[in-house]
Parts: sequence; structure tokens; C-alpha cells
Amino acid sequence: MIDLRSDTVTRPSKPMLAAMSAAETGDDVWGDDPTVIRLQNALAERTGKEAGLFFPSGTQSNLAALMAHCARGDEYIVGQAAHTYKYEGGGAAVLGSIQPQPIENAPDGSLPLEKIIGAIKPIDDHFARSRLLTLENTIGGKLLLEEYVQAATKLARECGLATHLDGARVFNAAVASGKPVGELTAPFDSISICCSKGLGAPIGSVLVGSRSLIEVAHRWRKVLGGGMRQAGVIAAACLYALDHHIEGLAEDHANAARLAEGLSQIDGISIQSQATNMVFARIPEAHCVPLEAWLKERGILTQMLYASRFVTHRDVSRADIDTFIDAVKGYFATI
Ligand SMILES: *Cc1c(COP(=O)(O)O)cnc(C)c1O
Repeated sequence: MIDLRSDTVTRPSKPMLAAMSAAETGDDVWGDDPTVIRLQNALAERTGKEAGLFFPSGTQSNLAALMAHCARGDEYIVGQAAHTYKYEGGGAAVLGSIQPQPIENAPDGSLPLEKIIGAIKPIDDHFARSRLLTLENTIGGKLLLEEYVQAATKLARECGLATHLDGARVFNAAVASGKPVGELTAPFDSISICCSKGLGAPIGSVLVGSRSLIEVAHRWRKVLGGGMRQAGVIAAACLYALDHHIEGLAEDHANAARLAEGLSQIDGISIQSQATNMVFARIPEAHCVPLEAWLKERGILTQMLYASRFVTHRDVSRADIDTFIDAVKGYFATI
């Protein structure tokens, strides 16, 4: 199958599985799994932070970060389109007693500075306490401009807010911008990074930040049920991905550009955006279901219903992109 639904669908390669089976393990709840420690330190070092903490998912890593920054009755300022607001089941409110203060993302994914200023509450018993600004990079595949990130995080600091980056795909951002990942993470107090997206590990996210913040997040991870035992087995896959899969992200980005180019030449389809490994396309609603079925019969998995998004990753080759484009052309030739 050619699976364009997400970059979460990658399968562990043989050498990755070999690294997993050779992993030295301990009991990570006791803090003595050497492979987990190695992964946490590796990502802390790359991102220029004091400490890291391994999580089973990015959702849990983001939530533990929000809970480490914000207490009950505090609020975080976040984009309407942000994963930490829209796609995490309302966890911050449900489990953290943290009020989200969502604001509309600009088309480039940023949160306009004047809207951030407008959302920060004065200190007054009527209001939740504004504690945190949360950004996402990449967002919808798009890179946040470095100057924007500098300005937004500076504004947050001046207003006494901490800053968190949902950096699920921050390595895509680093590769696309040609900057070391540490430059993109430097302005933030904490960053959550997914190893299970384009990096190609089967499971695993890492939260990085100051030692004191990570200590608090460590307690919340236990409360959230995220304390794992011989987790070195999966940390080894993440370490393998960091060592071997970062440069390959550039290929995913080139494949996404090729996919967008191919789709744009088909009558009836227009490209909404293409950035890094994601393509958003406008496909007439009447065609979404039949086209998805047509492609599935030809061994291609897509999801066009709630957003026509196509995602490239290391298990999709350049030839697969051409196969996909030809299949879409074939469909539109029949109607
Ligand atoms: C995937 C993703 C996460 C976390 O997802 P999990 O599936 O819980 O690992 C967080 N933020 C963004 C932007 C993501 O794409």
C-alpha cells in the first residue's frame, strides 16, 4: 500500500528493529533505563536544553508540559488550529483544569502579536491567570518564520508568560530551513518532539526543557499513566531515527512538492498549500468519497473527507508519488 494519510504510518525498518532488539534496558520508572537516558540526553543536547523526558505519545508530552507550566485555573494562549488545542481531546481542560485561550491562526500559522496581547488577562480575580504561550512548528506543514518566533516569545516573556513549542515536526522545520534544530528551539522554555512522525520510529515523543520543569513534568507523566518500564526498546528506535532519518526528511519535502505539482495539473483540483511534507488540496466534495475508493482499489490510502491532506514520509518513494498522480488522473479521465 502507498499510504498518504499521515507520516505516522511509517513501519520500523529491519535495521531499526535490530537496534530495538539489541537495546540495553532497565526500568525507566526507576530512572535506570540506559537507552531512555541516552535518548533524553541526546535530544536535550540537540535542542540546547538541560533535560529531556520520554513519553509514549506527543499528546501526552504536550499535556504534561501544559500541566507543568500551568496550575488549576491558569490558561494557555494557543491557536485555534493548534494540535494542543484542537486535536488532543481537550486534555488540558479535562485533565489539567487549564483553560485554553484560543486565538485565530493567521494563514501562515502564526498567532498575530496584537491578538496575543489582547488575550493576556490583567491580574484580577475575575480572570484565569495567563501563564503560557504555545506555538507549533511546523504547523499544517508550514514553517514559522524565525523573526516571528523571536518577536512572539519576546512578547510572552515581557508579559511574564512561559513558552512551549509543539515541535512534533521541528526536525522537518530544521531541515526545510537549513538551520540547526537548536536555533529553532532556543526561544522556547519547553519543546515536545515526536519521533513517530517523519522520523519514522514506531512510538515515542520527548519533552525537553529546564531540569526543574522536567521534574514537574515527570510527576505528571506518572499521573497520566505514562511511566513505562523497559522503554529502552522503543527509545532505541527513536535514537536510530535521530541518527539515520533526519536528512531523509528533505526527500519527503521534495516528494510533497512533486505531489502538489502533479495534482495542480489535474482539472478540478487546486492546491491550497504545500510546505515541508504536507499538501492540502481542494477536491470537489462530490469526488472525495469515490476518488478515495478508486485509489484504495489501486493500493493507495488517502483521507479526503475532512481535509484533503496528503502527507509524504520515508515509506513513500518518488515513484509512489507518480503512481498516485497517475491514479488520480485516471479517475478524473473516467468522469
Ligand atoms: C502528531 C502530533 C502530535 C502528537 O501526536 P501523538 O499522535 O499523540 O503522538 C502533537 N502535535 C502535532 C502538531 C502533531 O502532528
